[in-house]
Amino acid sequence: MGTIQTPPGTRDILPGEIGYWQYVETITTEILSRAMYQEIRAPIFEQTSLFERGIGEATDVVGKEMYTFKDRGDRSLTLRPEGTAGVVRAFLQNNLYAMGGVQRLWYKGPMFRYERPQAGRQRQFHQIGLELLGSGDPRADVEAIALATDILKTLGLQSLKLDINSVGDRSDRQRYREALVNYFLPYKDELDFDSQDRLERNPLRILDSKHPRTKEINQNAPNIVEYLTDKSRQHFDQVQQLLTDLNIDYQLNPCLVRGLDYYTHTAFEIQSEDLGAQATVCGGGRYDGLVAELGGPDTPAVGWAIGLERLIILLKQIKDAPNTSPDFYIVSRGEKAEGQALILAQKLRYAGLTVELDLSGSAFGKQFKRADRSGAIACLVLGETEAQTQTVQLKWLASQEQKTFNQGELITQIEELKEQLTRHKQTSG
Ligand code: ATP
Ligand code: MG
Repeated sequence: MGTIQTPPGTRDILPGEIGYWQYVETITTEILSRAMYQEIRAPIFEQTSLFERGIGEATDVVGKEMYTFKDRGDRSLTLRPEGTAGVVRAFLQNNLYAMGGVQRLWYKGPMFRYERPQAGRQRQFHQIGLELLGSGDPRADVEAIALATDILKTLGLQSLKLDINSVGDRSDRQRYREALVNYFLPYKDELDFDSQDRLERNPLRILDSKHPRTKEINQNAPNIVEYLTDKSRQHFDQVQQLLTDLNIDYQLNPCLVRGLDYYTHTAFEIQSEDLGAQATVCGGGRYDGLVAELGGPDTPAVGWAIGLERLIILLKQIKDAPNTSPDFYIVSRGEKAEGQALILAQKLRYAGLTVELDLSGSAFGKQFKRADRSGAIACLVLGETEAQTQTVQLKWLASQEQKTFNQGELITQIEELKEQLTRHKQTSG
């Protein structure tokens, strides 16, 4: 019998790669905190009805992709396929709306969708998401979009493309929907199978079909922007003006739509050409109808989610894995020396240094080899002599220069030592 493997569409994020994840999380946390967004952590599974209502039964996510199961108490539960529904549920359940004003929230974590696994598409994947609840102002849309672009830019990602569209409000969309159905009906037999199905249930979704013939037909479909009321039009114009004021490049994309009633006004996507078929890194938009749909007071809202696997695929193309080498690697041999080494390691860590302790007890030669492999800047050596005299040898690994310290002295001179470490780090590249 072989060893047990991960289920299809899931993977381990191993230590060799974790630096990228932590780097992304650190940058994101910093950028969002500066804009006064606070993290919220909702459960990974929720009642199935939350997603049926909050995402919509006509969507692929709810219709085909959810991990739904009965628990032992016969409740229907679902592993969250996205983050917004849970955040809105938490917002309502905990009366966060009663605090008035806007709530600026963000989350990160795994999401689950039963999809065909391929590069940039998994069954367990990760998102960082943002939700701004309580403002219908176009500035809120732009604040959200700008934070997404700030995060991606700060991470060093280039050649990203921002597409925006407006899907208007409920009544705009009602009129647009009729126009679309009238347009598509004569082509019904030429549409792909999914799109034929959507013609009755959710015609707006036909517009983002990836099927070649459907895409051709979409080219001449009516443009939603022509169905916007003055008020919706004005909102969209303001969003565009504010993006321009912030020097954020964008393209209008009339095929960028979300089919559900609670999506309103701005829809946007950030794509990269360097991702192949799964090009979208970030998707988001305004959803003024969702909070009410989930039983809350009318609350305008806007949000987005970034797919971390796709983001990290891009990051790997431009950046080496963040360094995880220690400052010091400690080698020691003999019972007394080993004991002192353990204490020294702890003191140096308290002083803020990164220290790896060799635990093998093997010959010095072998320990030195491991020290080299660890990528440490310097090695600290404790043998029998050092143990007797309470000293330690410090050896800079690049130059092989060596110096003896009293063990206590090493800690009292820590600031100087840190400077030397920085200098050696620079010279060793
Ligand atoms: P797609 O069209 O690629 O299926 P989506 O419209 O289903 O994307 P959203 O629900 O808007 O995606 O999720 C936001 C982001 O999360 C996506 O832009 C993508 O980066 C990421 N994402 C979505 N589904 C997956 C998945 N199965 N595996 C990896 N990342 C995903
Ligand atoms: Mg999808």
